[in-house]
Amino acid sequence: MTTPDDLSRCVDQYDPDALPVHAAQAIVRQWATPHTEIEHVSLHDALDRVLAEDIVSPIDVPAHDNSAMDGYAFDGAALISAPDDVTLKVTGKALAGHPFAGTVAAGTCVRVMTGAWLPAGCDTVVPQELVSREGETIHFPTDALHAGANRRRTGEDLARGSVALHAGRIVRAGDAGLLASLGIGDVPVRRRLRVAFFSTGDELRSLGEPLAPGCVYDSNRHTLSAMLRRLNLETLDLGVVRDEPAALEAALRDAASNADVVLTSGGVSVGEADFTRKLLQTFGDVAFWSLAMRPGRPLAFGRIWSGERPGAGRPALFFGLPGNPVAVMVTFYQIVREALLAMAGATPQPVPLITATSRTAIRKRAGRTEYQRGIAERDTKGQWHVVPTGSQSSGALSSMSEANCFIVLAHEQTNIDTGDTVDIMLFDGLV
Ligand code: AMP
Ligand code: MG
Repeated sequence: MTTPDDLSRCVDQYDPDALPVHAAQAIVRQWATPHTEIEHVSLHDALDRVLAEDIVSPIDVPAHDNSAMDGYAFDGAALISAPDDVTLKVTGKALAGHPFAGTVAAGTCVRVMTGAWLPAGCDTVVPQELVSREGETIHFPTDALHAGANRRRTGEDLARGSVALHAGRIVRAGDAGLLASLGIGDVPVRRRLRVAFFSTGDELRSLGEPLAPGCVYDSNRHTLSAMLRRLNLETLDLGVVRDEPAALEAALRDAASNADVVLTSGGVSVGEADFTRKLLQTFGDVAFWSLAMRPGRPLAFGRIWSGERPGAGRPALFFGLPGNPVAVMVTFYQIVREALLAMAGATPQPVPLITATSRTAIRKRAGRTEYQRGIAERDTKGQWHVVPTGSQSSGALSSMSEANCFIVLAHEQTNIDTGDTVDIMLFDGLV
């Protein structure tokens, strides 16, 4: 088994006290190996699931050459023989789902609607708008189209035997339709990743409980649950755990025996009540516990075992996230998310960064990556502009609600002046 030391040697400038974000991401990537369990679900339930196998098209789509327009189908050779004007006799019709059974001879055509199979002898469709019709005869100018126009070819969308969707793909709306177009109603997917999570802190109160002096409501569990559900993972909410070694140990073992990944929040900084880190060292492997990142500096990452010592019982990947609510979200999206997707069997897709002009000066110290919460908008010339939200405190969750993007300030970046360009990562995607 790979140890944290082996892994840290793979990464340049390893400093467990403040690991650069890219180095942390590299370590996490190495530890986040996919599970291999497969199940079959109906197409309806396949949305947002990870495909476990390549989907090979069992048929050609479309299954037959067909018309892309409402018009008349004929043999395109007629365009070569006729000098100025083509005249054809209409001998039948083909509608979507109602093919024309006969063969279309030279000098004749068949009325077709979009999607109708092209009859034998036809390779071209003249759109109805280009045609003048008198009785059963049509005319149109020869130079209005070329042979083969307005024909959708057999297998043009997907050829039989080709890979329609690759293993590791997360099924999106278009994929659901594509699978249906292949006649596939039973989809092989990876078992959903199981993620257990709990909050730590004596000050935390759950919803419905009275808020005693010095206490706060536990918001992190709700944020984590929501972020995990968005990724369509199976969640196991283990509640609030007090800052007490025995309770923490029991909760971590319980989580490790029931889940692939364990997420906690709070209790990983250098504060007095921070037992999580010490505990981890007794029955887990710790890869790092501090990042050169803001927010998100205290972040413990490693592996925990459900047994008494490292290597005993069932292993689970462990992320001890900071307690501050914004830091929970930032570390989840920048460090945890990709690992969860990889473990779930998904092929990671990089989140796009967009270049934007900063509307204000932003203070930034070199030596850590910052993820400020920003409000981005695109001007009429297509240029993106961004402004940080009011409070950038890692406790101020309202900044996440107000923002529509992260402003990503790279490790070496120093102060930003008004008008400088910065990278932004938008919160919303379309599909
Ligand atoms: P800690 O990392 O445990 O020292 O927590 C840092 C800050 O985050 C403290 O102000 C905590 O009260 C706050 N905090 C920790 N956990 C939560 C939580 N689950 N919900 C809301 N705030 C929290
Ligand atoms: Mg705490």
